[in-house]
Amino acid sequence: MIAGINALVDLQQAVIQQVDLPLSAGNKITSDVLRIDKIHATVSGNKWFKLKYTLQDALEKKHDMVVTFGGAWSNHLVATAVACSQLGITSIGVIRGEEPEVLSPTLNECLRYGMRLHFMDRHTYREKEIAYAEIRKLYPGAYMIEEGGRGPYGVKGAGEILDLVPVNRYSHICCAVGTGTMMAGVINASLPGQQVIGISALKIPEEDNQIEQFIRNATGNMNNFRIVYDYHFGGYARKTTELTDFMNAFYNSTGIPLDFVYTAKLLFGINDMAIKARFPAGSRLLIIHSGGLQGNQSLPKNTLVY
Ligand SMILES: *Cc1c(COP(=O)(O)O)cnc(C)c1O
Repeated sequence: MIAGINALVDLQQAVIQQVDLPLSAGNKITSDVLRIDKIHATVSGNKWFKLKYTLQDALEKKHDMVVTFGGAWSNHLVATAVACSQLGITSIGVIRGEEPEVLSPTLNECLRYGMRLHFMDRHTYREKEIAYAEIRKLYPGAYMIEEGGRGPYGVKGAGEILDLVPVNRYSHICCAVGTGTMMAGVINASLPGQQVIGISALKIPEEDNQIEQFIRNATGNMNNFRIVYDYHFGGYARKTTELTDFMNAFYNSTGIPLDFVYTAKLLFGINDMAIKARFPAGSRLLIIHSGGLQGNQSLPKNTLVY
C-alpha cells in the first residue's frame, strides 16, 4: 500500500556532505549535512517523511479525500498535493487568509497537482475547533491532516530520516523546529549519549511552550534534547539581511542552498554556536537539511545568489 508513496522520492539522492563549521577557520568539530532536500524537486525534505505513514493510515481507513492546512507558502501543502496525486487521493488545502488576486507559486503548484484550495479568514483559521468543524461539515468523511503534518504518524515517519545515515558516527544531531514533529521523530531514533539540538524557526516563549510539550509527549519524556530559541530572526518566516547574507556566504563556500524559513536559521544558529564554542572539541555534528527551498520564491529577486 505504501509502495506508491515510496516510489515518489529517490532516497539515494540524500547524500551526506561534509562542511566546515564555523565557516571561518578554527574548526574543532566536524559537521555533516544530510541533504534530504534532494530526494524530490517539490516534495523536498522532511514533509515526505512526515506524510508517509499519515497517508498510509488514510488509505488503510479507506479515505479517498484528504484535507490539510497551511499558509500561502507552505511546503507541507505542496508535498501533500503531490503525494495525493501520486496515490489517487483527492486533496483539499485549507489556506490561511482570504483569496489573493495573484496566487503564490506554491499555491499554483498545489493546483497543478490537483489540490482544491479553500481559503479561510485568519480569525476562523486560528480558532482550530471552529475551523475543523467548518471543514468537517463541508467535506464529511475526509481524512484530516494537521498543519505541517503534525501528529503521531508524522513523528514515526520523521524517525526514518536517521535510517539514511550511520547514526552512531555522531555526537549531536541538529534540525530545524517548526511544529517539532521532525525533532520528536529524530529524538526517538537517536542513540543513547547523543544530543539532539533543535533551532526554533518561531519566536516563542522558552518556558512551557506547546512545541516543547508536544515533543515531550511524543518522545515519552526523553531528555537528550534542547531547543535553542535565539535564532528566529524576528519570528516565523521573518528574515534580516544578516540572514540572507549568511545564506549567500554559506552557498558560496559549500554549494548548499538553504531556505530562509527553516534551514538558514538552523545553519546560522549552529555556525554561531560553533563560533562561540558551544560544542565540545571533537563533537561530530549531523545537520539535517530538511528541504523547503521552494519557499525562497517569495524573496525579492536578486536577494540570493542561487
Ligand atoms: C516544515 C519544515 C520544517 C519544520 O518541521 P517540523 O516537523 O514542523 O518541526 C523544517 N524544515 C523545513 C525545510 C520544513 O519545510
